[in-house]
Amino acid sequence: AKYLGQGSPQLFDQRMQKNFRSRLQLETDLRRAIERDELLLNYQLIVSLLTGEIAGFEALVRWNHPKRGLVSPVQFIPLAEETGLIVPIGEWVLRTACKQMRQWQIEQLVNHNVTMSVNVAGRQFAQLKLVNMIQDILQETGLDAKLLRLEITEGVIMEHFESATTQLQQLRDLGIQLSIDDFGTGYSSLSRLQQFPIDILKIDRSFVSPLGSKAENREIVETIINLAVNLKMSVVAEGVETLEQILELKQLGCHYGQGYFFSRPLDSEGIKQLILNHQFK
Ligand code: C2E
Ligand code: CA
Ligand code: CA
Ligand code: CA
Repeated sequence: AKYLGQGSPQLFDQRMQKNFRSRLQLETDLRRAIERDELLLNYQLIVSLLTGEIAGFEALVRWNHPKRGLVSPVQFIPLAEETGLIVPIGEWVLRTACKQMRQWQIEQLVNHNVTMSVNVAGRQFAQLKLVNMIQDILQETGLDAKLLRLEITEGVIMEHFESATTQLQQLRDLGIQLSIDDFGTGYSSLSRLQQFPIDILKIDRSFVSPLGSKAENREIVETIINLAVNLKMSVVAEGVETLEQILELKQLGCHYGQGYFFSRPLDSEGIKQLILNHQFK
């Protein structure tokens, strides 16, 4: 700590160094996570509120760290974005999710209209060959493009407006569907939103959670649902945990729900058991 001069900053400096080292360590570990086979996907059901059937899944990445155990994506996705590691990780996620979906189709575990949603980070749009890469994965896995949905946050669309627009249009031309994730949290302007070829809005959990209790939140959710319907999009409510929320969402005309009420995110074996043992079809 000498270079910082003498005296009191030392303790602080030590702590900073420790944080810095552990971050660096995490980055080194993350760099190796793919080749060491430490990443895995969990899947969460997206259920039709009209029929109660499985409409799709969302793939959610997990990192099984050899020392730290399961590391949440909330911790390592931001690091992956900063370091650019999101590019290989994102590609692994896409390939694994498409392969899994095709596998479930072959095993006749799911209907042939069931979709797979994959989160795509902003940084991935800076990658030149994103569209080609996705096209290759579809070809390689044999998954129908119509069944792949990419989830993009409002923030990403606004930040990467120029580069993302062309690529999103190309992806859409392939038949891939596009969702806006965490809708309502990103202050997107409606005029910009309208310029995007979006198929699905996902209402953020923070608006869904208070449903069934706080009346004032009803209006926000109602507004989002009406907006989506008017723009001919479908709506998914995230973070659905109670029957009260479901009843209210149905009443407001929401099409799909996703949340612990239906199922937590599960690994592929867990999903298989859920479908085989459960009323879900
Ligand atoms: P997200 O895309 O908004 O995903 C939904 C998050 O809400 C998931 O957290 C899910 O486990 C959680 N969740 C689902 N239902 C409920 C519920 O009923 N109650 C509550 N309290 N939570 C619920 P998870 O898996 O920890 O993922 C966190 C975030 O990490 C995701 O938020 C997404 O932004 C990011 N993420 C996850 N996987 C990927 C990925 O493969 N690529 C990228 N770029 N980001 C990912
Ligand atoms: Ca998502
Ligand atoms: Ca979300
Ligand atoms: Ca969310």
